[in-house]
Amino acid sequence: MEKFKALGISDPIIRALNDMGFEEPTPIQEQAIPAVMTGNDLIGQAQTGTGKTAAFGIPLIEKVKASASRFQGIILTPTRELAIQVAEELNKLGQYANILALPIYGGQEIGRQIKSLKKNPQIIVATPGRLMDHMDRGNIRLNQTGTIILDEADEMLNMGFIEDIEKILSELPETRQTLLFSATMPRAIQNLSQRFLKNPTFVSIKAKEVTVPLVEQFYIEVQDRQKFDVLCRLLDIQAPDLAIVFGRTKRRVDELSEALKKRGYSAEGIHGDLTQAKRDSVLRQFRDGIIDILVATDVAARGLDVSGVTHVYNFDIPQDSESYVHRIGRTGRAGQTGAALSFVIPRELDHLRAIERLTKRKIVRMPIPTITDALEGQQKIAVDKLFRIIEEGNFEEYKGRAEEMLTEIDSVALVSAALKLLTKEPDTTPVKLTEEAPLRVRRDRSRPPQQARRKGPGDNNRPSYNKSRPRTRPN
Ligand code: ADP
Ligand code: MG
Repeated sequence: MEKFKALGISDPIIRALNDMGFEEPTPIQEQAIPAVMTGNDLIGQAQTGTGKTAAFGIPLIEKVKASASRFQGIILTPTRELAIQVAEELNKLGQYANILALPIYGGQEIGRQIKSLKKNPQIIVATPGRLMDHMDRGNIRLNQTGTIILDEADEMLNMGFIEDIEKILSELPETRQTLLFSATMPRAIQNLSQRFLKNPTFVSIKAKEVTVPLVEQFYIEVQDRQKFDVLCRLLDIQAPDLAIVFGRTKRRVDELSEALKKRGYSAEGIHGDLTQAKRDSVLRQFRDGIIDILVATDVAARGLDVSGVTHVYNFDIPQDSESYVHRIGRTGRAGQTGAALSFVIPRELDHLRAIERLTKRKIVRMPIPTITDALEGQQKIAVDKLFRIIEEGNFEEYKGRAEEMLTEIDSVALVSAALKLLTKEPDTTPVKLTEEAPLRVRRDRSRPPQQARRKGPGDNNRPSYNKSRPRTRPN
């Protein structure tokens, strides 16, 4: 936190950063935050996943007044998903400063947005098209807006938003502060900057300066026998695109992949006992997205390079902190963001602390999700599917039948039934997993951290029995 404090960030935001598990600023944050706080315009260039949201979010929240007029800050993002994501992060950062950020995007009912606008958000995160709609209707006036941020400016230009952006910029007061963030700096961005930014500070972070992957890290305290049900709920809630589940032993990997399949997930396992051909074929299917959950031991996952892995689940936490870093590095690759979630049984909490010390990152505790959470997660996915279809608008042939049904059936009943049909309800098919013994506690904690261990080609069935390292049972 010291490094954040040194940037001049106020206590309510420091408190929020603490909750979020951010311990120190990323390079773009370190350079951009003080520069933006001077009030200058700024161009920030850094890869995806380097923490640009907080780089502009923190100084913006510092600047807006909780009590003053609405719409003091506007953030433009290329997509609806990003608008939601950025607003979420700003709301977390601003939770103790009483700052509200509202996402505004196409595809959502305009009446509902008008209602939300009445909550007096200080900050609006919008896609350009929908913001223009609201401006045209007079719902949003930007003549008081002191700050505008173009997030992922290159993406917005690629998507053809240039005219909307120019129009929006021209409606803002001359005295406003303009910030532009982009992963790349093509000519078109330079032109836009020259026209709309005043004497901007330029901050550029080279890819190599980002060392620790920006992976959100969580842990859940569970008993071994609860782990599987909790994993299924998380998969239902988080709906990962591609996930890797790490098990400690070969037996664990086999049982887990079987159990997941039994509950209807598309999963396969790899470990050192499988033939190279089998491993290759599983990996190929995973890369191609034919299976979306890969269950693996540490050894089998070594050197694995698959892009697009959004979630890593440590079904069993690893023996070594080095293995942990390696495991979570399977996500958040190529600058993408990812999440890592570890199951920790109470006796293993010391191992978790050791990992935190090595990685210098806080691993945030998460409560055990309930079945209701899982169902809600799946419903949300169904709702999103519906919204996506509405946005695409390609359903003329269905309207006649819909109108016919609506003459007989109440609309709430009809939509509920459609949602039920689209929702994957949590599956509780019984499965059997052999219990895994907890990691043993090290006798001598003062020893320096171990060198990364090199194991043979196969996996040790029980890495904790490694003879070269004396261990003792906890008493
Ligand atoms: P970008 O906009 O550059 O792609 P994001 O702002 O989306 O990156 O950040 C990527 C991930 O890193 C997010 O999950 C975010 O919460 C996390 N993150 C950002 N800053 C920090 C930090 N200082 N410490 C730890 N995690 C961070
Ligand atoms: Mg971003």
